[in-house]
Amino acid sequence: MGKVFLNGQFIDRTKAKVDIEDRGNMFGDGVYEVIRVYNGQLFTLEEHLQRLMKSGEKILLNMPYDIEQMRAIIKQLIIESDLDFGIVYIQVTRGAITRQHAFPGNEVPATFFAYTKPLKRPLVQQRDGVKVKTEEDIRWLKCDIKSLNLLGNVLAKQNAANQGCFEAVLVRGGFVTEGSSSNIYIVKNGVIRTHPANNLILNGVTRLVVLKQCEQTNLTVMESPFTVVELMDADEAFLTSTTSEVIPIVEVDGQKIGNGLVGTITAKLQQSYENEIEEQCKRAKLE
Ligand code: PMP
Repeated sequence: MGKVFLNGQFIDRTKAKVDIEDRGNMFGDGVYEVIRVYNGQLFTLEEHLQRLMKSGEKILLNMPYDIEQMRAIIKQLIIESDLDFGIVYIQVTRGAITRQHAFPGNEVPATFFAYTKPLKRPLVQQRDGVKVKTEEDIRWLKCDIKSLNLLGNVLAKQNAANQGCFEAVLVRGGFVTEGSSSNIYIVKNGVIRTHPANNLILNGVTRLVVLKQCEQTNLTVMESPFTVVELMDADEAFLTSTTSEVIPIVEVDGQKIGNGLVGTITAKLQQSYENEIEEQCKRAKLE
């Protein structure tokens, strides 16, 4: 079993215990991050740590560590866990105290933990593409915060899974916002479209990497909401996330997208993403 960093110590996974009245358990009162590790190297670590700090700020959570301290903890955790390929999960909550809705005083420390998990890349889905199902986006209006409150996401994902679909595409007022745990894109006449990074979506770190690569390879991107009708009518569609990377969407609600095969622009972006992983890991190794 791997190691866990919990409140200042590296301990065995089986010894890691959190109070039942932790506000993460009681209210989902906390924030989290998931970071990929390739060949023992952390991918887009800085972007994830910055987003974690920002999520904490947005829910007025006193973060127990600064970015430099978290960077050191996570790097040590990878070594302690001897992780090669997988993920690091980090969670910070507003601490443990007798259940009450209002915030505890500053004397109650935040609960901070991080653990690693071996995880394979979804290579089959990346090669063949996946089916998705549309679902109404019933979540709150602060989806830019990576908070532990994921019930809206979980319910949508389960509805999709019940239909044999890999992901739920969330729809608010006829417009696609994002996936239950990913960002969604369409390609029409060579132009890539995805929802703008506002309060209705989580601005994915993978999204930022992909959009930067579009810019570098002169692919046109429009960050503007698109409708379900436009999704159905797209030439290509794909989703991105830390764990999924870039996965083509070949079917929505039982209807084929384009010719039902992996699109050429999607394939190109998958290749650029692969190159970025290789480059970043090479650089990280030299540090
Ligand atoms: N949107 C939601 C709702 C998510 O849960 C995720 C996965 N964290 C994403 C988008 C993609 O974010 P990232 O690329 O940073 O993993």
